Amino acid sequence: MDSRKKEIIAYFRNLDRSFFMDKHKELAGLDEAIPIGHQQTISQPSLVLEMTLALDLQPTSKVLEIGTGSGFQTALLAKFAASVYTVERIAELHNSAQKRLAEAGFANIHFKLDDGSFGWAEHAPYDRIMVTAAAAIIPQELIEQLKPGGKMLIPVGSSFLQDLQLVEKDEKGKLHKTVIDNVLFVPLKGKYE
Ligand code: SAM
Repeated sequence: MDSRKKEIIAYFRNLDRSFFMDKHKELAGLDEAIPIGHQQTISQPSLVLEMTLALDLQPTSKVLEIGTGSGFQTALLAKFAASVYTVERIAELHNSAQKRLAEAGFANIHFKLDDGSFGWAEHAPYDRIMVTAAAAIIPQELIEQLKPGGKMLIPVGSSFLQDLQLVEKDEKGKLHKTVIDNVLFVPLKGKYE
């Protein structure tokens, strides 16, 4: 395993998940998705780690994250990339994640309260895109906002089971898709639900 992966795993092991939870803090040590209110969840830790490693973050990466949620995944992205643009549609989650991540000292995260199924065109293109809610199909807007040479992770499928797809865009703009796991995420609300 390369040294960067080792660094990510070490940081992940020391990250206090309960810091990202306002309720059910006593459940933070379980390897399970836990409710964070508004019918949403903080993702399963092992899956957060798997997705972070699979995204192949570089110190220069500009990352778009759709579904800020608790900010747990956002913290990992921000620690190992140059900058993160994160979009959340629920105001209370957006506000509390923003407060938490500022308190944790992150200064390279940009927050937006909006429907992220359209991405965040203003700052595109992105080297990496991480979607933490499930879409029926891959949003065309996200494909367009991914840089040639870039990578996107997105759960695609029904509300009962999804393929976690790694989408790689080559330098000619051609997409290469690989299913790396089967997962169960809450739906990406909006046009691609
Ligand atoms: N990684 C996050 C965590 O561990 O806290 C995952 C949060 S949860 C599984 C998915 C999040 O996606 C929820 O906060 C939900 O509100 C958000 N979401 C769903 N559809 C969205 C959309 N169209 N735009 C932005 N956020 C969306």
